[in-house]
Amino acid sequence: MDCIFCKIISNEIPSVKVYEDDRVFAFLDINPLNEGHLLVIPKAHAATIHEITEADFMAVAAATHKLSAAVKKALNPEGINLMQLNGEVANQVVPHLHVHIVPRWSGDGLTICKWKLVAGDMEKIQAIGEQIKEAIE
Ligand code: 5GP
Ligand code: ZN
Repeated sequence: MDCIFCKIISNEIPSVKVYEDDRVFAFLDINPLNEGHLLVIPKAHAATIHEITEADFMAVAAATHKLSAAVKKALNPEGINLMQLNGEVANQVVPHLHVHIVPRWSGDGLTICKWKLVAGDMEKIQAIGEQIKEAIE
């Protein structure tokens, strides 16, 4: 498969690996937003949250939890952003699901995950809540 991250898992493309288990692989991002920026990916190719199995997603979540603790212990950041983008419209660039672990320090100048709060229309919020509840399988 012509997927950069599948090639990283198979070692066709080198990476700085920090963790691997039967379902998950984790390595340092080559364009780090901050020191210690990690990517956690499933070994089985899945482009987005809609393709990955629940079991693989749970394995990615468990590894993300373990690696966040390791980043805290190793680098002592004041905070951590976890990010996971799905689809080009959501700014996903590499179509192999990945969770970004981004350590944060005050004054690091990053503007990620900083959005302006604008109050929503409560009727609309309630209607959308109903729509989503009905769609849960
Ligand atoms: P996305 O926008 O899809 O969530 O982010 C993709 C991430 O993959 C980017 O942060 C980018 O720096 C990283 N990336 C892309 N190609 C490579 C690569 O070949 N090696 C590593 N280590 N990271 C990569
Ligand atoms: Zn892949």
